[in-house]
Amino acid sequence: MPKVPNWQLDRDEFYKYESSPPQKQIGYVFDTNKCIACQTCTVACKTTWTSGKGEEYMFWNNVETKPYGFYPLAWDVKALNKIGNVEWQGTAYQGKTIYEAAEDGEEIAGYVPDEEDWARPNLGEDEVTKAVDHKATFELPHSSWMFYLARICNHCSYPACLAACPRQAIYKRKEDGIVLIDQSRCRGYQKCVGACPYKKPMYNAHTGRSEKCIACYPLIEKGVAPRCVQTCIGKIRMAGFVHPPHQAEATNPIDYLVHEAKVALPLYPQFGTMPNVFYVPPIHVELPYLRQMFGPKVDAAVETYKKRDPQLVGLLSLFGSTDHLVDKFEVKDGKALGFLNNEHLVTVPVKEPVIFRMSKDENLDVVRPSIT
Ligand code: SF4
Ligand code: SF4
Repeated sequence: MPKVPNWQLDRDEFYKYESSPPQKQIGYVFDTNKCIACQTCTVACKTTWTSGKGEEYMFWNNVETKPYGFYPLAWDVKALNKIGNVEWQGTAYQGKTIYEAAEDGEEIAGYVPDEEDWARPNLGEDEVTKAVDHKATFELPHSSWMFYLARICNHCSYPACLAACPRQAIYKRKEDGIVLIDQSRCRGYQKCVGACPYKKPMYNAHTGRSEKCIACYPLIEKGVAPRCVQTCIGKIRMAGFVHPPHQAEATNPIDYLVHEAKVALPLYPQFGTMPNVFYVPPIHVELPYLRQMFGPKVDAAVETYKKRDPQLVGLLSLFGSTDHLVDKFEVKDGKALGFLNNEHLVTVPVKEPVIFRMSKDENLDVVRPSIT
């Protein structure tokens, strides 16, 4: 098996194919501190892509409450059990990836969920870790906590789904790094379903094919953001393109958050698929849990986020401000500007103006009794 470089693990790893990076790589940042679990993203995706026969149970985009929410049941607990001990020495991963933990006769350490496992997408919703103490204060991290984790396919750089497919029905597009299943080649063996540690390919029993998030590629081709990004009520999402660290551009918003400010981290980097959805971790949650989920760089990410650097705050205020992908940003004079292909898309104030309305409006000569 060839060895390929993985900057998220700070080492090389084994993968089925040689490294072959796309010309561009779609990338996302989700700020978990802002998600309200309204599921608008889930419904936008569902009504756009999975309203057909055999797709009833599918949520290519889902939002689960951590630590007790899962879709499918216990997906991350089971995937972590497959790879065994997770050990980091500094930022270098010492444990095994899903490719390295495979048993004899297997290529990838995985499993296919049961039908029942998919049946309760809202399991554990809004459950906190323990009862909130009487007179609990809001010091960070909280003693009782939960947070919302929005999930889509990560359009990984070393996709397990692609590596597992015996039909070579899964491919990674050269132009944007989107991972797709060719429905005409797929025979429904579900090897991708078993291999993906994030459990994002799903089997359609009606068509006898597997399906997965397609990153709304018809929109991406026009420079428009995917539906889940466009519709996000909490403005937690930004979509654009991400580079590896040695090619990072400080003016590219995804690169800035991932490589410069280092506040956005991959989900379970230890699986070894090199995911391209990055998360700003929740700052109110216990660090041991976050370290397991986002790796050893999470402590610094939380501290940086709390410092509220003006450049970072400016960039975060651009989230949800445009329907388009953003590949360049600028923060100046209290404003944040977003661009795509050097065309100006949007300008937003970094600090929203606060306007007080007096109960007596002198201009209109009216009294508004509901204003305190
Ligand atoms: S998240 Fe899963 S389905 Fe998506 S590219 Fe990675 S391995 Fe494949
Ligand atoms: S639409 Fe945005 S805020 Fe609402 S659940 Fe989805 S990611 Fe969270």
